[in-house]
Amino acid sequence: MPQIVDSPRTLNPFAIAQAQFDAAADLLNLDSGLRAVLREPVRELHVTLPVRMDDGNVRTFKAFRVQYNDARGPSKGGIRFHPDETIDTVRALAAWMTWKTAVMDLPLGGGKGGIICNPKSLSERELERLSRAYVNAIAWIIGPERDIPAPDVYTTPQIMGWMMDEFSKHRGYTTPGVITGKPMTLWGSLGRDDATARGAMYAIREAAKVVGVDLSKARVAIQGFGNAGTFGMALAQQMFGCTVVAVSDSRGGIYNPEGLDYREVHAFKDATGSVVGFPAAQTISNVDILEVDAEILIPAALEHQITAANAGRVRAKIVAEEANGPTVPEADDILFSRGVFVIPDFLCNAGGVTVSYFEWVQNQRGMPWELEEVHKRLDRKMTRAFNETLEASRRYQVDMRKGAYCVAVGRVAEAVRARGWA
Ligand code: NAD
Repeated sequence: MPQIVDSPRTLNPFAIAQAQFDAAADLLNLDSGLRAVLREPVRELHVTLPVRMDDGNVRTFKAFRVQYNDARGPSKGGIRFHPDETIDTVRALAAWMTWKTAVMDLPLGGGKGGIICNPKSLSERELERLSRAYVNAIAWIIGPERDIPAPDVYTTPQIMGWMMDEFSKHRGYTTPGVITGKPMTLWGSLGRDDATARGAMYAIREAAKVVGVDLSKARVAIQGFGNAGTFGMALAQQMFGCTVVAVSDSRGGIYNPEGLDYREVHAFKDATGSVVGFPAAQTISNVDILEVDAEILIPAALEHQITAANAGRVRAKIVAEEANGPTVPEADDILFSRGVFVIPDFLCNAGGVTVSYFEWVQNQRGMPWELEEVHKRLDRKMTRAFNETLEASRRYQVDMRKGAYCVAVGRVAEAVRARGWA
């Protein structure tokens, strides 16, 4: 058995993913054959993409698609365009997608893709040629029944549209179900824009019942004011009547114990580029925001924000991780021992992949859903996943993150066993 060495933060992302898997495998007492199958991706494709640039020269780009495990169904996971992309990052993200689809009990496996490139230095035409070249190179391992990509870092609905078009040329007919996160005109799903935050709200509602927090009187602090954070602020106010007392972006945060109005803060950020400087609020730092006096803390920005150094000062009763990886493992133990209820990232922010799954279902059936249908089904999925995780965390007497791993790894292990792979 590989050891968890030093602080996992010093390891590469795939070593971290494997260490997390090992801990769950120990709790579940998995045999060595199952561990061997589940510790590695089942398939990965490395390609070199030749792309003609606007100046007439050809440049090559390295790219990957990793299918971590497809025992439960076609792989699902985003495509990232990033200059610092590495195969180990893509492997780790593909593993996390496998556990995320499994904890949500979606009939899917997990995958991830990446192109090493700086999209900001490419023209729109170059970006389109690069996107089409990528699909050409991986077309033989993706498809609605095989592997369904989606947007991720620096990839957009327009890029998904080009990729769907390129794949459809291979098939000879329009195949919307090959990719999700498409523009609405190409049969994207209603409700995808706020799905991550809305899913987190359903999880918060369930956590509040467990912890005994009255949401209509709850104060909320949100680190990060992008897609996840802005919708988080709006929905916390609209759905539950929470008082959002603090929000922040990369330039810093603002705090008002009487509450901040979503529309006013949003308009101010639109006009000035930051929430900092918003009138009638005190300026605070991105470190301070984690320690604000509030019942609910929503990290919705970056990884490694709650550490051993500040976990003892978190005052929230519920930490709802909309961001991926905001809490380091040492901090998890401190929060758990202090009775802070953490809704782990791959459960809390799974609303996005769940509505992506809904998009695929709608495409495969050729029947788009109304927005209410999307919300109702998302609520059902999140509530069920939350309560199954809670039950596992109680059964194994561990925190919610380890509980979620037990549910997810247990489900994939069962499928692997039932298929006779191990
Ligand atoms: P985004 O780029 O839209 O927003 C990120 C926000 O974080 C911005 O407001 C930025 O100013 C802020 N930020 C950057 N550095 C910061 C710092 N040091 N302190 C505080 N804020 C800082 O990104 P997003 O889509 O909202 O994603 C945020 C997190 O949620 C990421 O971890 C992402 O992986 C996760 N997530 C997002 C989705 C989704 O559907 N958008 C789904 C799953 C997980």
